[in-house]
Amino acid sequence: MDEMVAVELLSTHGLTRQYGGLVAVDNVNFKLYQDRIHAIIGPNGAGKTTLVSLICGRTTPSSGRISFKGNDITGLSSAKRVQAGIVYTFQVTSIFSNLSCYENVALSVQRNLRVQQKRTSLLGKWSMVSEADIEQAVSKYLHEVGLEGVENQIAGTLPYGHQKLLEVAMSLAAGPKLLILDEPTQGLAEAEIENLTQLIREISKSVNVLLIEHNMEVVFNLAEQVTVMDNGSILAEGTPAEIENNHAVQASYLGN
Ligand code: ATP
Repeated sequence: MDEMVAVELLSTHGLTRQYGGLVAVDNVNFKLYQDRIHAIIGPNGAGKTTLVSLICGRTTPSSGRISFKGNDITGLSSAKRVQAGIVYTFQVTSIFSNLSCYENVALSVQRNLRVQQKRTSLLGKWSMVSEADIEQAVSKYLHEVGLEGVENQIAGTLPYGHQKLLEVAMSLAAGPKLLILDEPTQGLAEAEIENLTQLIREISKSVNVLLIEHNMEVVFNLAEQVTVMDNGSILAEGTPAEIENNHAVQASYLGN
């Protein structure tokens, strides 16, 4: 993709998170561009999850700043960041295993509609959300992830791969502008990985996607931009082809 037309979506400036003497994220300047599937890779303990936890507000930085769509969001609560459109799968989608699939997605839909309603009521408009609106939205999101006919099934009884899809449906129902997926393919079978890869590609047509992923085949298949982390820092950044040919990355991570 042409560097000239890249529009910045999110950036971090000198972002640092220490745990005692350990610097999990060390002075990181990270950039995400609109409309590019972005993957963060790196060995265990490199700081990937800490970086996205800082981005979504689950963890507070020791120092540094984060901006999203040109606004400084460093001081915003994680709930406010969800409202701003930064949705981290694990944050909003811990499935309620005893509730039905319908109820799980409906909770997410209702939360999002309530936020939207607050906005429109500030503009002097007010509209009731009907059960029919919620039903329609739930069907839409379940359909989007390819989970139909499971509405009445108890979420905890779904096969693991389908629970992951339910999580994605719940995340979509939160109305993300940036969807962060932390190791989405972990624990999935080959066919499920292919299916999820296709789904992420589809989602990325309307939502910006950032994923942490260990499966290199998925990364090289899906990502348009890759950041390699090592030891709390960014070791390399670029297109998948650039990363594959980067000597430092080969030496430290890809192992060939
Ligand atoms: P993995 O691929 O294994 O998930 P990661 O790249 O996501 O690893 P992080 O989970 O961000 O790495 O961890 C980075 C470092 O920070 C590790 O050394 C980890 O032990 C440490 N760390 C993360 N969270 C905490 C915490 N809450 N308290 C103390 N140390 C932590």
